[in-house]
Amino acid sequence: MSEPHVLLLGAPGAGKGTQSKRLADEFDIEHVTTGDALRANKDMDISHMDTEYDTPRAYMEAGELVPDEVVNEIVKTALQEADGYVLDGYPRNLDQAEYLSDITDLDVVVFLDVSESELVDRLTGRRVCDDCGANYHVEFSPPETEGVCDECGGDLIQRDDDTEDTVRERLRVYEENTEPVVEHYRDEGVLVEIDGEGTPDEVFEAIRDEVADAA
Ligand SMILES: [Zn+2]
Repeated sequence: MSEPHVLLLGAPGAGKGTQSKRLADEFDIEHVTTGDALRANKDMDISHMDTEYDTPRAYMEAGELVPDEVVNEIVKTALQEADGYVLDGYPRNLDQAEYLSDITDLDVVVFLDVSESELVDRLTGRRVCDDCGANYHVEFSPPETEGVCDECGGDLIQRDDDTEDTVRERLRVYEENTEPVVEHYRDEGVLVEIDGEGTPDEVFEAIRDEVADAA
């Protein structure tokens, strides 16, 4: 059996990160995210590209968004270096999906289906310790005492990213850019849709079975 090439799609809060990590462990493949790939290739020479800066690092240090063509190149490098992968957080739009089909063959495309109201509950319920950074959720993993960190007694805060207005805006941006990607794979007949509202174990087992079948 060759090492599986897996693409995991889903909205923010659908559980892609958690499930990708478990899949990577289970099948002994790389968990590839755009963020990690960028950090690992900060000093890649991109001077041959028609870009403003010569390295991804220069964009990051200037506080500017790394252009799509550079992100594409970095993802390509990460996938080429991986012996089997689960790709998480890419492609974010149709152009990237087309690029991806040029550089690799996917064995399975999994979409984690979670309703918007559930996503909003999950994302707005997140709390993080102001002192040590420990993560909590008011509903799914609450601290022993409301608002107080179990680890260090620090105050639990809601990050600006997790307020309801910001969450709804993140979901709107996702829907506008990434829903067409989901549709694209659905039209191609390669999309496997998995109910993402079960327990993390149930969801993992469902994905694992699909990947085992496809690889
Ligand atoms: Zn703490």
